Amino acid sequence: MNTSLSPFHCLASLIPAIFLFGASSAQANFIDDKLEQMELQSPIDIRPDNTTYVPQLPRLEFDFSSDTALAVINTGSPDHEKSVMATPASGAGTLTTSGEKWDLAQFHFHTPSEHRLNSEQTPLEMHLVFTDTDEDVLVVGRWVNYGAANAALDPIFSNLPQTVNDPFVLNSFDLNSLLPASNMQSFRYSGSFTTEPYAEGVSWINLADPLYMSSGQVQAFQKLFPEGDSRSVQPLNGRVVLTDVPEFATAVPEPQTYAMLLAGLGLIVLVTRQRSANLRFAGSAA
Ligand SMILES: [Zn+2]
Repeated sequence: MNTSLSPFHCLASLIPAIFLFGASSAQANFIDDKLEQMELQSPIDIRPDNTTYVPQLPRLEFDFSSDTALAVINTGSPDHEKSVMATPASGAGTLTTSGEKWDLAQFHFHTPSEHRLNSEQTPLEMHLVFTDTDEDVLVVGRWVNYGAANAALDPIFSNLPQTVNDPFVLNSFDLNSLLPASNMQSFRYSGSFTTEPYAEGVSWINLADPLYMSSGQVQAFQKLFPEGDSRSVQPLNGRVVLTDVPEFATAVPEPQTYAMLLAGLGLIVLVTRQRSANLRFAGSAA
């Protein structure tokens, strides 16, 4: 791996510094106080009884580069967010949905999965973290199941940085390998970062179609984080999860209420953005 000739090297060196800086005790108290007021947290358990079927959710239009450099870092430390995070070149990945364009900032993994589906966890969960020009955050999650070795991700998973001091750069990576081939069905709700400061107002889109990795690839990641790097599930507190997965949801509304449900989801995001405005800071990982 070339670790010396790319501008990503500087970025890869900076990001661990942001994470290791952590929060002061005053900040920690501030976060504790804020958490007591928070009600719309992530991850959640997505079950038929808390999910509503909407036949046509806003389309997800991904425009991902098939050839981007990728800075790969281990953000681990004993006390703060731990994961392996990959940062593509700026502008290498965009998502357009509901007329809004989002830029792929980074992707990372959790073990076991943070979100549960029908109360079940999978070995890993991938988070594609997007931001917009207003610094709002949208995360596309994908469950990872056991299967064949994932060739596209193998350059990362066969060379996982063992410590925060082992960043490396992949000179070429196909971001499309992170997306489903065709099935874009999903579960959507408004939640939060799953790492400090747990800021709310994060739009979550969990794709129904899972990624597959071999048990060897999963074990390589779990070996880095033997106690896991997942947050426990949080109460829904009245939130609605919307899905376009046929026959998953118990609740199937009348057609005239679809628009109201979608508008309601937008309203939740708007409200939580205002509530969490003071909590968001650069370097959060979701
Ligand atoms: Zn995450």
